[in-house]
Amino acid sequence: MNTTKVKAYSATSATSPLAATTIARREPTPSDVRIEILYCGVCHSDLHFARNEWNFTQYPAVPGHEIIGRVTAVGSGVKKFKVGELVGVGCLVDSCRTCPDCRDGFEQFCTSMVMTYGSVDKHLGGGTLGGYSQGIVVTEDFVLRIPANLNPAAAAPLLCAGITTYSPLRHWKIGAGQKVGIVGLGGLGHMGVKFARAFGAHVVLFTTSPGKTADALRLGAHEVVVSKDEKQMAAQAGSFDFILDAVSAQHDINAYLNLLKRDGNLTLVGAPNEPLPVAAFPLIFRRRSFSGSLIGGLPETQEMLDFCGQHNITSDIELIRMDQINEAYERMLKSDVKYRFVIDMASLK
Ligand code: NAP
Ligand code: ZN
Ligand code: ZN
Repeated sequence: MNTTKVKAYSATSATSPLAATTIARREPTPSDVRIEILYCGVCHSDLHFARNEWNFTQYPAVPGHEIIGRVTAVGSGVKKFKVGELVGVGCLVDSCRTCPDCRDGFEQFCTSMVMTYGSVDKHLGGGTLGGYSQGIVVTEDFVLRIPANLNPAAAAPLLCAGITTYSPLRHWKIGAGQKVGIVGLGGLGHMGVKFARAFGAHVVLFTTSPGKTADALRLGAHEVVVSKDEKQMAAQAGSFDFILDAVSAQHDINAYLNLLKRDGNLTLVGAPNEPLPVAAFPLIFRRRSFSGSLIGGLPETQEMLDFCGQHNITSDIELIRMDQINEAYERMLKSDVKYRFVIDMASLK
């Protein structure tokens, strides 16, 4: 198969920093769209993956699944996109399209889904390579439209942080009259605050960083609780309809289960590599439930982008050069992200 070379940043082992490299992209097939990447958000999953914290990374690894770019070529059969259009690509680049999950628009649960990085590349062999690169080729059904009124760099994180928080809040029918907690003010958490507020809920942000209080209120939280303060936590006991946990590391999940009302739900979207012990009593008393959620399917991702266009919602970002990525990872580990790093891909030329 013919390929084109593009510049990229990759990790060659779990302990090596990311560094400049060149990778191959396929020539567009009739159903493909070729995209020049303008911006790519930096998700904590990129760090988990680059460092093999989930134990499935194959090297070289090119992370990046919050992609905004411009269409530079389309295959002969492409109907939805034209050269020059601004588009997005999230965590998925393909799926089986025939299983019940795919037919229902839940491609993220397809057992044959192809992730933007870390899956098997059906066309070229080897692993799929993500958005820390100048360009990507994606089948048109997995390419998303970006509302024209949104700042493209600040829209990039919607493709993962946005849909990952939008989807569970919609699934659990969050709206006016409900009290909602968001745990962790990082990339996902700050989008969770914005969406929960936009849906009309009373929003409480839980943080381990007291210095983020003013930002959380500005982003839309009605209240901020410093989770290390036992008195502040006790004051919230038994009062929440729903809590969304977006923490990237080990923490005490039971402390949050205890804050739910009868029949309240705690949904986990954070993906720490170590198991989180769940005690029986916080669940069985008051019939509480604990569940998880994974990104969102293509139809819901487009719905979320359109909602963001209508309500002018984007991420609060810090634009970085590609060569600042290793420093950005270190800052992410210190919870020092305000509130998503986005790579300006012009810096990779
Ligand atoms: P992030 O920007 O690094 O934010 C994580 C936040 O968690 C931090 O800002 C911090 O918030 C809090 N935190 C970090 N360490 C903590 C600790 N030891 N104890 C308590 N709180 C801590 O990360 P992200 O990109 O939002 O991703 C969050 C997690 O979601 C990652 O594990 C990522 O892999 C996962 N993820 C899952 C999905 C999915 O589909 N389910 C999609 C994308 C990402 P405070 O400073 O406010 O405490
Ligand atoms: Zn992500
Ligand atoms: Zn499928």
